[in-house]
Amino acid sequence: MKYVEKVLENLKERNPNEPEFHQAATEILTTLAPVVEKHPEYEAAGLLERFVEPERVVLFRVPWTDDCGKVHVNKGYRVQFNSAIGPYKGGLRFHPSVNLSIIKFLGLEQILKNSLTGLPIGGGKGGSDFDPKGRSDREIMTFCQSFMTELYRHIGADTDVPAGDIGVGGREIGYLFGQYKRIRDEHVGVLTGRGLTYGGSLVRTEATGYGLIYITEEALKVRGESFKGKTVVISGSGNVAIYACEKAQSLGAKVVAMYDSQGYVYDADGIKLDVIKDIKEVKRGRIKEYAQRVKSAEYKEGCKGIWTIACDIALPCATQNEIDKESAEILVKNGVRYVGEGANMPSTLEAIEVFQKSGVVFLPAKAANAGGVATSALEMAQSSGRMFWSFEEVDKKLKNIMVNIYHNIDEAAKEYGYEGNYVMGANIAGFIKVATAMMAHGIV
Ligand code: NDP
Repeated sequence: MKYVEKVLENLKERNPNEPEFHQAATEILTTLAPVVEKHPEYEAAGLLERFVEPERVVLFRVPWTDDCGKVHVNKGYRVQFNSAIGPYKGGLRFHPSVNLSIIKFLGLEQILKNSLTGLPIGGGKGGSDFDPKGRSDREIMTFCQSFMTELYRHIGADTDVPAGDIGVGGREIGYLFGQYKRIRDEHVGVLTGRGLTYGGSLVRTEATGYGLIYITEEALKVRGESFKGKTVVISGSGNVAIYACEKAQSLGAKVVAMYDSQGYVYDADGIKLDVIKDIKEVKRGRIKEYAQRVKSAEYKEGCKGIWTIACDIALPCATQNEIDKESAEILVKNGVRYVGEGANMPSTLEAIEVFQKSGVVFLPAKAANAGGVATSALEMAQSSGRMFWSFEEVDKKLKNIMVNIYHNIDEAAKEYGYEGNYVMGANIAGFIKVATAMMAHGIV
């Protein structure tokens, strides 16, 4: 049996009931076969076995009290996956679906994503099965304080630097940082996505969405095209989706649909982003209110229908496995030509195959949404240098990083004989740097 297959089989046997982790590992490892063939020393050093095993997994209890005095207990996670090229770095997700499998899939992806940014950051991920929906500010604060009361002993500015993800935005990062500072008595860059008055970076809020558009713009540009006049569908209406929409619109695209976890809105005149921002960022409401406020819009219950809307460019920006084979086939039939993944693993393995076989330009998450973590690393640089860069400076660096990522994954795919296959390109380019560092460190 080939090395990659052996490692994958062993991983599934030793980590049963972790379907998302199996899915991410399968996607990554199968594309690394040509690399490990070229480097037999990796097998001798057990490199892949070490690569798929987290360096450390922290699992903890998070007790908290709601506004009625009722006690709740949630699970807390931090998976410190790989620190070969820098301190662990990766977001915290608060969502009822969170479990070890999801945190491990996200952590594994994060290693390669962080490597692709070209910045010195390792891979980690964390979160909780806590559901912030419908909770008061006081309840959110109490939960965040309890979460950090355990997490603080495992993280540090040079050890592990968490950030936001689904359900963790500026408000949560503020409460988490406040509690860390209180316990450790140090004001350091231990979390990114911080507010601008206490060490945050300009552009961090916009970074993942803007970055997604910058890399897609580069893919369009090398093919003699641009966003101008293109019809775009974006799933989600959270942080990534909103700023992807903002930048795409500023480049002349027409975004016609967005969703939240209950349903989607279609607006043939183009989404009015100020209304979405008001509903989602200010009022924390439901997207169906958009159709009540904007006459040209219609609302449909359920999410899957969004992929039946004809578009040139599809940008899934909500959650994992939101595009399955059937949706991918409909998108292709309706003429989609570019798919850029803003969310992590939003396309199933079967959906990716459909896109690739149909000649769709498919930009996988670990490359396409790396702008967020890249800007987090820029926030770390500003924190440790005690300096503050302007919006234009950070935005320019972000754009350069995304353009470089595009060309790196394009070249890696070509070098290994898979031109245009950016899943191969991203995995290979990200992996080689991590593998080289791991080999240099010996068996650790
Ligand atoms: P937010 O919490 O800001 O927004 C998430 C959006 O997705 C919301 O519209 C939410 O709807 C929707 N959503 C969540 N779960 C589901 C589901 N199961 N089915 C349908 N819709 C769902 O998160 P972000 O925008 O920060 O993150 C979105 C994706 O991007 C995630 O995959 C995340 O890992 C990835 N990502 C985020 C980065 C960042 O910097 N924020 C960086 C890199 C990747 P509702 O409001 O109804 O819950």
